[in-house]
Amino acid sequence: MSELIDETIYSNRKTIAIEVKPGGRVIVRAPKGTRRANIEQFVHEKSGWILQAKARLAAVPVENPKQQFHNGADVLYLGKLWRLIHTPKVTKGLAFDPRQGFLLQEGRLEAAPGFLKAFYREETRGLVKVYIEKHANRWGLKPTSVRITSAMTRWGSCSGRNGLNFSYRLAMLPPEAIEYVVVHELAHIRHHNHSAAFWNCLGQMLPDYQQRRQWLKQNGRKLPQV
Ligand SMILES: [Zn+2]
Repeated sequence: MSELIDETIYSNRKTIAIEVKPGGRVIVRAPKGTRRANIEQFVHEKSGWILQAKARLAAVPVENPKQQFHNGADVLYLGKLWRLIHTPKVTKGLAFDPRQGFLLQEGRLEAAPGFLKAFYREETRGLVKVYIEKHANRWGLKPTSVRITSAMTRWGSCSGRNGLNFSYRLAMLPPEAIEYVVVHELAHIRHHNHSAAFWNCLGQMLPDYQQRRQWLKQNGRKLPQV
């Protein structure tokens, strides 16, 4: 696949169109059944324009609002909002307490984004492991590696060598959506594309995947930027 394309969306449209989003994400919209080679050719012809648009939009902030860390701020974790409370003494600077929410060491405002990222990263690592264990063996799928990344615009990816990558931001999502992302990437081990066969396979692995996917589509862009 062209390295310029981040996402291809097939629908009942008549022509191929390219859209470059804030942040530089490239989305290709194509009529259902368009051959990959035709899309590649189209993108190749427009590559000059795409690169210019990407450069222009790279610095434009995506929709996601900036995470706040003042006393009383909201922090998203597993699809729920929790209160951030400034506290005199907190081990490691930030801690999560299911009865109170997130506790941030007083005076550590500047370090707070780093603390929260580290927390999300660890939680994501654990949750991804749980869902891989739940689904991978059952379907005979074996990731060669699992990495947690800092990706802002994609939740996960599967490399040509079946290494899976997941954004640390997964920990913000409801568990059902996290499971969807994990199973989606696992299904890519079998089908390295978004063909009908891929969606079929995903449907067998996770019969209610469409609802879960819908949640991500509706809410993914609104989640905060840490
Ligand atoms: Zn995919």
